[in-house]
Amino acid sequence: MGKNLEGRVALVTGGSRGIGRAICVELADRGAQVIVNFRSNEAEAEETVKLCAEKGGQAFALQFDVADSAQVDQAFAALKERTGRLDILVNNAGISKDGLILRLKDEDWHSTLSTNLHGAFYTVRAAAKIMVKARCGSIVQMSSVVGEMGNAGQVPYVSSKAGMLGLTKALARELAPRGIRVNSITPGFIETDMTAELDENLKQEHFKAIPLGRYGKPEDVAHAVAFLVSDEAAYITGQTIGVNGGMLMR
Ligand code: NAP
Repeated sequence: MGKNLEGRVALVTGGSRGIGRAICVELADRGAQVIVNFRSNEAEAEETVKLCAEKGGQAFALQFDVADSAQVDQAFAALKERTGRLDILVNNAGISKDGLILRLKDEDWHSTLSTNLHGAFYTVRAAAKIMVKARCGSIVQMSSVVGEMGNAGQVPYVSSKAGMLGLTKALARELAPRGIRVNSITPGFIETDMTAELDENLKQEHFKAIPLGRYGKPEDVAHAVAFLVSDEAAYITGQTIGVNGGMLMR
């Protein structure tokens, strides 16, 4: 694809590790200036910045908790001051507090919804203020295959990820007249810190359900993001792209 994102500024939430890091590196490789958001792991965020620089891209780390509305607004003010623009937002930050319904605590529900869904709302609202003025922009929400098909033991996570799909469609309709596209990606089983914690038997069950016969890599998701934010996807909005090895076919 070459440097097809040259001159664009991209913010990736949760860019310090896993899928977010691969997205940062991919966008930097394609010429974008990348802002690497993280919540607590500054060393890993700086490692992502270094990897972006190795691809010849400009990047800097920006700490804020997506679940905290005031922190998000402050961070966007700082971002605008420093870059003057924002062309791409990837809402990738996410957590999962799993457990069977009878054992779930209020806190499991609230923390998962706060980060995954409320966080996506706070960041798109802040980004939209910049993008609407510029009358262009592209937003990608990192949902999940389980947001489409459900999963036992993941009620808060699945609810948050299904909510992100609704958020995407409502926003896509509202922002299309302003030249802003909004799409979702639903990854399947991708090898990161998040999936490393899973029980080995559960992993084997997931594996059997993947027609392509391998777990996904963060780069598989990053390639889909790079396509969605590019001009090649100029006529695509309000859509969901599954990156799941065939685990779910709609
Ligand atoms: P991961 O390795 O656990 O990384 C999570 C990232 O999110 C980290 O950069 C973390 O920052 C950041 N983060 C968490 N809470 C945050 C908050 N409140 N504010 C700002 N940043 C926060 O996760 P992953 O597997 O790469 O997943 C990335 C996204 O893809 C998530 O939304 C996840 O739900 C989704 N997804 C993953 C899979 C999979 O199989 N892995 C499948 C479907 C969907 P720190 O480093 O500072 O903690």
